[in-house]
Amino acid sequence: MQKILVANRGEIALRVMRTARKMGIATVAVYSEADRDAPHVRYADQAVCIGQAPSSQSYLKGDRIVAAALDLGADAIHPGYGFLSENAGFAKRVTDAGLIFIGPGPDAIRTMGDKLAAKEAVRGYHIPMVPGTDRPVSHPGEVLEVARNIGFPILIKAAAGGGGKGMRIVSREADLKEQIKRAMSEAESAFGDGSVFIEKYLESPRHIEIQVLADQHGNIVHLFERECSIQRRHQKVVEEAPSSLLSEEERTAMGQAAVNVARSCGYAGAGTVEFLMDADRNFYFLEMNTRLQVEHPVTELVTGQDLVELQIHVARGLPLPFTQDELHLKGHALELRVYAEDPLNDFLPSVGRLERYRLPEGEGIRVDNGFEEGMQVPIYYDPMLAKLVTFGADRPAAIRRMREAIAAYEVEGVQTTLPFGDFVCRHPAFLSGHFSTHFVKEHYSPELLLQDLEKEAALAAGVALRLYLQEMRTLRTNQS
Ligand code: ADP
Repeated sequence: MQKILVANRGEIALRVMRTARKMGIATVAVYSEADRDAPHVRYADQAVCIGQAPSSQSYLKGDRIVAAALDLGADAIHPGYGFLSENAGFAKRVTDAGLIFIGPGPDAIRTMGDKLAAKEAVRGYHIPMVPGTDRPVSHPGEVLEVARNIGFPILIKAAAGGGGKGMRIVSREADLKEQIKRAMSEAESAFGDGSVFIEKYLESPRHIEIQVLADQHGNIVHLFERECSIQRRHQKVVEEAPSSLLSEEERTAMGQAAVNVARSCGYAGAGTVEFLMDADRNFYFLEMNTRLQVEHPVTELVTGQDLVELQIHVARGLPLPFTQDELHLKGHALELRVYAEDPLNDFLPSVGRLERYRLPEGEGIRVDNGFEEGMQVPIYYDPMLAKLVTFGADRPAAIRRMREAIAAYEVEGVQTTLPFGDFVCRHPAFLSGHFSTHFVKEHYSPELLLQDLEKEAALAAGVALRLYLQEMRTLRTNQS
């Protein structure tokens, strides 16, 4: 592998290219007309415009991306995450063109991309699953019977769902019929597939996922867990490794289950097996993501591995460079997704121009960033500006660093999740380690954040006033 085309944009394109460069591999960027001046375009050795701003006209145009790779003599394509990264048809198109797809084979992507097919695949591997249906449901009578059996509340999910979309919680029998109908039409319009199924809605679960890595020779290891319970709209905002909850036995059991999930679909490459853990510490398989995850840096920091390098390594057909016994956890890492979203306004996207944009620096701070001061945050794509990651010898040290890094991160022009990240890092529930995916619902409100911000502003004003008075005194003393 001499040249990799990265079929993505922003911070993840840069993240992948950085490792490629470190390995002496040339890089090709693709970009839409909106990204002409983006940092990932400038960083790459070569760059090709693949279409207009909307991703349906550019970053989702698999045929144009493959043509660009062939044109420029790239021999591999890295899909990053989002866009075409979990599109089995794209993976196949890449390999049919004689290129290497840095990711699993199309069959594994297809199986795991459908939540019901995934459940079917892992049957026989003793993987615990959330009680529910294992087939699509549509008939109200059948749905009612299942719901009564597992007990309310239940969750209706789209088989083809992702990104927290297409989920509906139903607490009462009376709402069931209407909600199923709505979920099916929503799934049809969002994913082109109206199949929905039912799961028991776990009351206060934790989202714990396991990073796996498999080579093309049947070797599979796991790189421990990531805790991703701090979410808004069923989507992660703060992640950490290791989880503050797991015992060594639980870590081993979940790791083994994840390896089995990877084995069940003939997996090769880096992937993530997601689990929910209930209040009684039972864990259940949720789904598998057949790509690199946004939160992969926390795993890199606590294992000392470069996951993109490992992806490239196994895509070259080489055997895993280590065994399970050679992998160890060291220290603690936290990640905050810095989204251009307004935490005071329901986390709605906040687009605009980055009037000021300065990144924090220092020991134990890593920023995977895709933006620069003066840039416009485009409305066309996911509004994530950067991943802010901190590392420390233990959890309190990593949290302390995160607060320092948040304070040093300067953004003006758009609202971001930075103040929310600080709110989380100060909250007693988070500090104690006793929190669930309902953290935002149970502990967060814009009013609380506003109070904190006002307190901080008052404090800052107090400090400024004191400095001013001191200066005046010095001035007067000097003059007299
Ligand atoms: P998606 O693929 O859309 O991201 P997931 O199945 O991965 O959906 O679930 C995303 C989040 O939704 C989980 O992290 C959790 O917070 C919540 N969730 C999913 N299934 C359940 C369930 N059965 N009970 C409670 N919460 C759930």
